[in-house]
Amino acid sequence: MLPFLDQDHSQLRARVRQWAEKNLFSGGGEERQTDDVARRLVRQLGNEGFLSYALPKKFGGVRGKVQARDLCVIREELARGWMLADTMFAVQALGSYPIALFGTEEQKQRYLPPLAKGTAIAAFALTESEAGSDVAALKSQAVRRDGGYVLTGNKRFISNAGIADSYVVFASTAPDLAGKGISAFVVDANNPGLIVKKRIQVISPHPIGMIAFEECVIPESSLIGNQGDGLKIALVTLDLFRCTVGAAAVGLAQRAMEEALDYGRKRRQFDRPLTEFQGIQFKLAEMATELEAARLLVYQAAWTHDSGAADAKLKSSMAKLFATEAAQKIVDQALQIHGGMGVVAGSVMERLYRDVRALRIYEGTSEIQRIVIARSLLGKSRIED
Ligand SMILES: Cc1cc2nc3c(=O)[nH]c(=O)nc-3n(C[C@H](O)[C@H](O)[C@H](O)COP(=O)(O)OP(=O)(O)OC[C@H]3O[C@@H](n4cnc5c(N)ncnc54)[C@H](O)[C@@H]3O)c2cc1C
Repeated sequence: MLPFLDQDHSQLRARVRQWAEKNLFSGGGEERQTDDVARRLVRQLGNEGFLSYALPKKFGGVRGKVQARDLCVIREELARGWMLADTMFAVQALGSYPIALFGTEEQKQRYLPPLAKGTAIAAFALTESEAGSDVAALKSQAVRRDGGYVLTGNKRFISNAGIADSYVVFASTAPDLAGKGISAFVVDANNPGLIVKKRIQVISPHPIGMIAFEECVIPESSLIGNQGDGLKIALVTLDLFRCTVGAAAVGLAQRAMEEALDYGRKRRQFDRPLTEFQGIQFKLAEMATELEAARLLVYQAAWTHDSGAADAKLKSSMAKLFATEAAQKIVDQALQIHGGMGVVAGSVMERLYRDVRALRIYEGTSEIQRIVIARSLLGKSRIED
């Protein structure tokens, strides 16, 4: 058992692993019906009670306070099974957590129980065409009118666009205040002013697209937290989830490692299994060592977050950076061990190779994590400094 985990986490891991091995190990062949498969996965994750780990007890959750370690354990095991299941878990949690943490009692009662059960699907809409890494540059606006707000603007790369029932949306209520003028809202998908403009095809199965707000009228009760709290809400949410992206990377790399070992033992060349060659053994040794280091960094970061330590953000950035970069290398080496079989479309290795790439981009690219780490080392408070 890892030093940062206790008995509860081990039991949770065993439960998710068993479910994932039974339900996800053949995943990947159903990519053309991503939306249907995604909806089914959310319902299954709800039925199994896994989604409840992203919510506090009072609203269908498991613990009084959401734990990063629970989320990491679940994401690691789901990603080992099939990345789409991890994606569905993560986006559901991302779209629930701001409401759980900052929402009104009414918002929590209304939105959280169906999200915990998987009978409703959530989304988190922050990114825009001119506001990717620089989220504070967002241009969407929420203007006060008739006791509510009117939303206008565009969002891109929004996971679950088109299948979500509710979106947590970030828009400016005071453009002259830049980041300090951003507010968060929860918007129902059936609001006629919320338009799914375009679905995007990314290199691995992932329901994602662009949405627009065209004279989208929302009531005052849609505001999450106070006006102007939006950037804080987004960053607190991403602070929790950053190390969990590292956990997904660890799960995916673990699967690649297992596939490489299995193939290497079975495949014979020059009258012996590939694993008899030192060149292959050295690759495996390096892959296993990087995987172990990544796992330790991830669970250390999660433990640091759960214990409320001041350096949690730094540790999370280090964990996400190292684990996602390591997973990329491990998957690449595992594919190399498979030779030509690794690039056959539809094979597990080909799927892992496509699935691993986006982890280094979303929820803060590797470059942004390096900036956060360096800023912390140098005692600077802003990226621009
Ligand atoms: C599969 C997927 C799912 C996503 N899901 C969601 C979602 O559900 N909700 C949501 O809101 N967003 C989502 N995103 C968006 C994601 O968070 C952004 O793509 C990410 O933050 C990077 O923004 P960008 O793509 O605009 O890249 P840019 O910010 O344009 O960056 C381009 C490149 O420049 C680098 N760069 C930028 N600034 C600096 C700097 N100061 N110094 C050095 N290098 C720099 C970046 O690291 C990157 O390599 C998703 C993205 C993907 C790929």
